[in-house]
Amino acid sequence: MNLSRLLDPCFTPGAAAFRRIDPAAGSSRSWGPIAVEHCAGRIVLRIDPAVLVQLAFEAFRDVNFLFRSAHLEQWAAILDEPGSSANDRFVAAALLKNAAISAEGVFPSCQDTGTAIVIGIKGEDVRTGGDDERALCDGVARAYAECNLRFSQVAPSSMFEEANTRTNLPAQVDLAAAPSGAPGAGEYRFLFIAKGGGSANKTFFFQETAALLNERALEAFLREKIRSIGTAGCPPYHLAVVIGGTSAEANLKALKLATAGALDRLPDLAAGGTADPDAVLRDSGWERRVLDLARDSGIGAQFGGSALALDARVIRMARHAASLPISIGVSCSAHRNSLARIAPDGAWLEDFDRRPVRFLERALPVLEKAGQGAVRIRLDRPIREICRALSAHPVGALVLLSGPLVVARDAAHARLACKLAEGAPLPSYFTECPVYYAGPANTPKGRVIGSFGPTTAQRMDGYVRSFMTAGGSLVMLAKGNRSAQVTEACREFGGFSLGTIGGAAALIARDHIVSERVVDFADLGFEAVRRIEVRDLPAFIVIDDKGNSLYA
Ligand code: SF4
Repeated sequence: MNLSRLLDPCFTPGAAAFRRIDPAAGSSRSWGPIAVEHCAGRIVLRIDPAVLVQLAFEAFRDVNFLFRSAHLEQWAAILDEPGSSANDRFVAAALLKNAAISAEGVFPSCQDTGTAIVIGIKGEDVRTGGDDERALCDGVARAYAECNLRFSQVAPSSMFEEANTRTNLPAQVDLAAAPSGAPGAGEYRFLFIAKGGGSANKTFFFQETAALLNERALEAFLREKIRSIGTAGCPPYHLAVVIGGTSAEANLKALKLATAGALDRLPDLAAGGTADPDAVLRDSGWERRVLDLARDSGIGAQFGGSALALDARVIRMARHAASLPISIGVSCSAHRNSLARIAPDGAWLEDFDRRPVRFLERALPVLEKAGQGAVRIRLDRPIREICRALSAHPVGALVLLSGPLVVARDAAHARLACKLAEGAPLPSYFTECPVYYAGPANTPKGRVIGSFGPTTAQRMDGYVRSFMTAGGSLVMLAKGNRSAQVTEACREFGGFSLGTIGGAAALIARDHIVSERVVDFADLGFEAVRRIEVRDLPAFIVIDDKGNSLYA
């Protein structure tokens, strides 16, 4: 796959808005941050590695607080789309409000600020005189340390023990070369991606056969797979399907680019193909069909409806005749992708929309109207009383939660399960309060807590039955669909699984969490057990005590 040619259309004039960054920030070289030299008849671009540090820093800062205008407009379109459900509109309005909050630069849009991925294409006549990967990682580490982001990376100290790296490194840095004469040969081009765990986990790969290469079979396959994606990756999604590729790796590389929107300007196979071996093509006809399949799934933008996907890309590539690799993936509501280039005229970074506040005029009335019809649930009472209050309402109902929640996710659940296995009871904080599966971003100065949206419920599914048996997890709050075992456990033990809006972490932290303290496992950092107090936190009933599930 020729990356320089594939990504070149992203850099054609007018394809994206760029802003110039100050390339002198942190520069140390005597020859200046970016210099053009003539060397043996060639024009050489010399770039101080400090420019790479600054570029990576600003890229990962910006993508965590700002969005592309087109992405915001797609959310806003859900508000007016006649086929949207009331829950679709509520989610879209909340995400727009979240974007307006994160654009202020204090709370990142999501608490999972992602794995930093850098795809770079370095022209043959570009010299940096240093370790590019190191410089880019220095910029990543600086952004995560200075901008209230979250350190999400854990490294193994043994087969079963891990510790947070406290830098958000490692980053994934993939650098390719653009040979002389290739597009962008005189520049250094980048695609920066901050990929959260929830959306990364919604990457599916299938080794199929040519039996799928007909309309009926492919549509049936995609219908089933798209429905199985579910909501834990925080829809509405930018959905991508890649069919073909010379290997699994080539297929998945194209998927990553497609979900980031970096393949949007490829030629359209619907207009006719020529069996070019190097061709990577879109198919706009199948993109419309995939969007229809997403709409027909009924999953909606998290809590039932038609807005599972904002758009779709279907990419077709050449393949070995004996293999048909197919991948399906998403970019989530956080949609953090940024283009950049360093050229003789400076260092340029994709510019994002700094005024999402303009959408509030349309979004706030939707939130207010839904809030007036919502059920208020007080959490400052015995857990069985909370269950009785929830029991009066159907799955899909919007509730506003006020009172204490205990926060625990993967690592805390693993430890509690060990204690249970050793014969100890669950701690009282865990049996007395509903549990919120979440882990915050770093706390901004003077604020109660950092961005604090829900994490994927399904990762905790394996604990639910044993914890309910021991009196815990009777009311759970998280994001995404859950397994049939959780539905069954809720029916048997009289429990509930609730969902709050994935991707609205800045909004939840700023407007709905009034206090926070760590109560156990402080060594787990962002995964420590906390007790928080919430006020009017919106949530939907996903599974009830009668065995009903919103996603069944
Ligand atoms: S919006 Fe959802 S899937 Fe995306 S990074 Fe945030 S928590 Fe993960």
